[in-house]
Amino acid sequence: MAPAQNTVNSKHVAVIGAGASGLIAARELHREGNTVVIFEREKQVGGLWIYSPKTESDPLGLDPTRPIVHSSVYESLRTNIPRECMGFTDYPFVPRVGDVSRDSRRYPSHREVLAYLQDFAREFKLVEMVRFETEVVRVEPVNGKWKVRSKNSGGFSDDEIFDAVVVCSGHYTEPNVSLISGIKSWPGKQIHSHNYRVPGPFKNEVVVVIGNFASGTDISRDIVKVAKEVHIASRAREPDTYEKLSNNLWIHSEIEKACEDGSIVFKNGKVVYVDTIVYCTGYKYKFPFLETNGYMSIDDNRVDPLYKHIFPPALAPGLSFIGLPGMGLQFVMFEIQSKWVAAVLSGRVTLPSPEKMMEDVLASYETLEALGFPKRYTHKLGKIQGNYLDWIAEECGCPPVERWRAQQVNRGYEGLLTNPENYRDEWKYHDLTEEAYEDFARKKLISFPPSHYLESGR
Ligand SMILES: Cc1cc2nc3c(=O)[nH]c(=O)nc-3n(C[C@H](O)[C@H](O)[C@H](O)COP(=O)(O)OP(=O)(O)OC[C@H]3O[C@@H](n4cnc5c(N)ncnc54)[C@H](O)[C@@H]3O)c2cc1C
Repeated sequence: MAPAQNTVNSKHVAVIGAGASGLIAARELHREGNTVVIFEREKQVGGLWIYSPKTESDPLGLDPTRPIVHSSVYESLRTNIPRECMGFTDYPFVPRVGDVSRDSRRYPSHREVLAYLQDFAREFKLVEMVRFETEVVRVEPVNGKWKVRSKNSGGFSDDEIFDAVVVCSGHYTEPNVSLISGIKSWPGKQIHSHNYRVPGPFKNEVVVVIGNFASGTDISRDIVKVAKEVHIASRAREPDTYEKLSNNLWIHSEIEKACEDGSIVFKNGKVVYVDTIVYCTGYKYKFPFLETNGYMSIDDNRVDPLYKHIFPPALAPGLSFIGLPGMGLQFVMFEIQSKWVAAVLSGRVTLPSPEKMMEDVLASYETLEALGFPKRYTHKLGKIQGNYLDWIAEECGCPPVERWRAQQVNRGYEGLLTNPENYRDEWKYHDLTEEAYEDFARKKLISFPPSHYLESGR
């Protein structure tokens, strides 16, 4: 859609969350001339990347009254894609040359990501926009504006009116726990990866890890160092799968049932007596503060209705969501989505009519169904993420995602699937890394020549 002419105006916008998505949203909104307040219930910026050894009182995260611990980061976590493709487009996530306190690895630890986000927030003066320790408890439309109720650490609540609200509250906090037949009378311990931090508690145990993607592969390899046995249950594998991956690590097909005598029966017929089940089965979208008089709903992890996973047609552009599609490029997706939201709010770009947006939403559901994907895949973009980002980029007049970036993320995921033990330390695609640093140098985004980073990088 062509940018609208001479219609730029400033809006007063509430951003909920100061994680990666909230920070970049605030930056883009501010750049387009809007005024921004970021509400953040933690004491610092960084969201998910603020590691805490604290876990929730209910290890499965099913008790709705439990006090929430936001982060799902475990102590050993390193990024699952190379740092060059992960960073924002004009603030590259490159090693801090000469600073020994920083992690210069290509796949750095969670601490380095937090440090990067804090640097970013300082560089663009975003910290000044944040109201820390302030939780948004209610958001509702009122006479064409948005009422935001927040509660600070002193327990005081406040109602404020904004022209728009951008939801950047993250979606890796509410555990999704798959139901296993017989689990109610199974006597062992159960925990969701949201509450996993360190392997120590699993010493000498027999553990089943359900799920074999990013968290499942990491956590099983972490626990296997101290456990007696670890058995991975994978839904993606054929029913007869049974493979020994190392001395005390096996991979099976999914679980058939759990039994009262403490055993777990897999679809491949194997029976294992198990101390603990670790669910690496993903997360659910949840926006407990949102009141849309029934217009929006969440069913089977579909946030409905959302035009291009961002705008609820009848409430747009006053309400928008950044970061819903998981996987692939995340920070860059937040950035491109935020540029669009900011351009729409300032009036530089216009959205189609609510009816047209709704037609598009329904058509996307039909496509999903025709391809045989379940509803819960609505916000999983997978291989079409590139097209999705290019489409938005064109809509708001920003450059498409760099070729090297898309290729790095694909190679990164290939490594995760084919070499889960060592992919982080055995990066082979040096041509893509060179291309990335040459691109940064051409755009004058780095302070040293590419050779400097290429020689020191691991
Ligand atoms: C274990 C794990 C590993 C990952 N690894 C990678 C990786 O290697 N690379 C990658 O690119 N992506 C990775 N991701 C994806 C990751 O989620 C994103 O990269 C990104 O950090 C998410 O940012 P966000 O801002 O959307 O959410 P968050 O970082 O979760 O931030 C949301 C913020 O909103 C605040 N908030 C929530 N509700 C309220 C409220 N009501 N009021 C006020 N504040 C509120 C929270 O306190 C939080 O600070 C990983 C995800 C997980 C779970």
